[in-house]
Amino acid sequence: MKQQLTKRIFFACITVFLLSFGLVMYVMNTYLAQRNLEELKDNAVYIASVMNAEGWAFLDDMPAENSIERITVITQDGTVLYDSMLDPSQMENHKSREEIGEALRTGEGFSERYSESLLQKTENYAISLHDGNIVRVSMTQDTIWLLLYQMLKPMIAIVLVMILLSVILASRSSEAITKPINQLDPENPDDTNIYPEMKPFVQRLMAQNQQIHSQMTQIKQEHKKQDTMRREFTANVSHEFKTPLTSISGFAEIIRDGYVQEKDISHFADTIYTEAQRLIVLVNDILKLSYLEEGNIDQKARVPVELSALCRSIQERLAMAAEKQQVSLLCEGEMVTIIGIPQTLEEIIYNLCDNAIKYNHTGGFVQISIRKQEQEAMIQVLDNGIGIPEADQQRVFERFYRVNKSHSKEVGGTGLGLSIVKHGMALHNGEITLESHENQGTCIQLHFPLSESE
Ligand code: ADP
Repeated sequence: MKQQLTKRIFFACITVFLLSFGLVMYVMNTYLAQRNLEELKDNAVYIASVMNAEGWAFLDDMPAENSIERITVITQDGTVLYDSMLDPSQMENHKSREEIGEALRTGEGFSERYSESLLQKTENYAISLHDGNIVRVSMTQDTIWLLLYQMLKPMIAIVLVMILLSVILASRSSEAITKPINQLDPENPDDTNIYPEMKPFVQRLMAQNQQIHSQMTQIKQEHKKQDTMRREFTANVSHEFKTPLTSISGFAEIIRDGYVQEKDISHFADTIYTEAQRLIVLVNDILKLSYLEEGNIDQKARVPVELSALCRSIQERLAMAAEKQQVSLLCEGEMVTIIGIPQTLEEIIYNLCDNAIKYNHTGGFVQISIRKQEQEAMIQVLDNGIGIPEADQQRVFERFYRVNKSHSKEVGGTGLGLSIVKHGMALHNGEITLESHENQGTCIQLHFPLSESE
């Protein structure tokens, strides 16, 4: 970065230097040329007026050699009568010269001639005299190129010094620009030793660091929370397994040791069977929950699902259980199709209906309703069972949370049913609402967005 900057600043310096140098030369050249021309003209006019008044005599008094101006007198037909430098008889006819022709026509003429090498130029000014002859004053000067050529050595020295100065200047400037940037610690930016232009950048860096820091803290907290939850889950699972396994092991032990009479064996075997069944249900629920919690469901698993047919099939599957509890299980509503995971949707609705039957009174009812609303599909499971106390309503969706542990176990609950419902709904971007009053009943509604599910 520094090298690049040095190069740029160097080229900027050199460009400005060369441009201003060129411009100054040009302005000076133009100014000097104009001044010389005016001087030449003034002299020509003066000489002409003296000659008009006094004749030729004064020309002889002119110091010919040391004058930088050359005077020539020419007749109207171009013959040179007098020249302050050369012998007029040796000189060619001057009629075709530009300034002479012009003076013959208008009384005054001017011309400019460069020598072949362009290093010198001669300016001529001609004026008609009263006697009809023409006096011409010429002046030869060095052009700017000759001046430059003569001053080549000091010029080169100046340019070299300028280049050196530019390099030093460029290097110093880029050092001043890059040093605070290079010294900046991105992890710990400090806005004290910087120049004002850097301030927004450093402040943005500081803000970003702050953001990263708070995000890291958040992630750490999240991890801690997840860790705690995992540990709690393991402890809960172990605890849930322990009770049925202890009773299975206990009953098996007394049968093995021959403490049980023949007639009681079937009763003990039945208990072992029931406990084993409970373990199977528990393992299944844990598997379902971990599958839903992982959340990486294949998009292909999402298909159109018609909800009223699904609810009716669940009603059929639970008919026996409802009858056993003497609870009437009803299902009504319109057809509505959403995009979802069929098995998960079935588990969600099954768990809700199963709970509504389990936590009900003899002679109670469970009503499943399906509604299609403007932007959502809604399934409602309503019962007039025992209800959930207000204090527990928030917590029933937690894993293994039961309002009445022994009652739940009695009716074969694992405490995972509503947790499965919650995670299953999250996978469908759905929402759950719960309204319940103790001894009056419970109403749980599932809302599925239709825009996503069509
Ligand atoms: P469980 O397997 O114990 O039924 P859930 O997660 O399905 O576990 O439900 C958690 C607790 O919420 C249940 O133990 C029960 O106390 C309460 N509950 C759930 N549904 C109902 C309902 N419809 N009526 C009354 N209580 C309910």
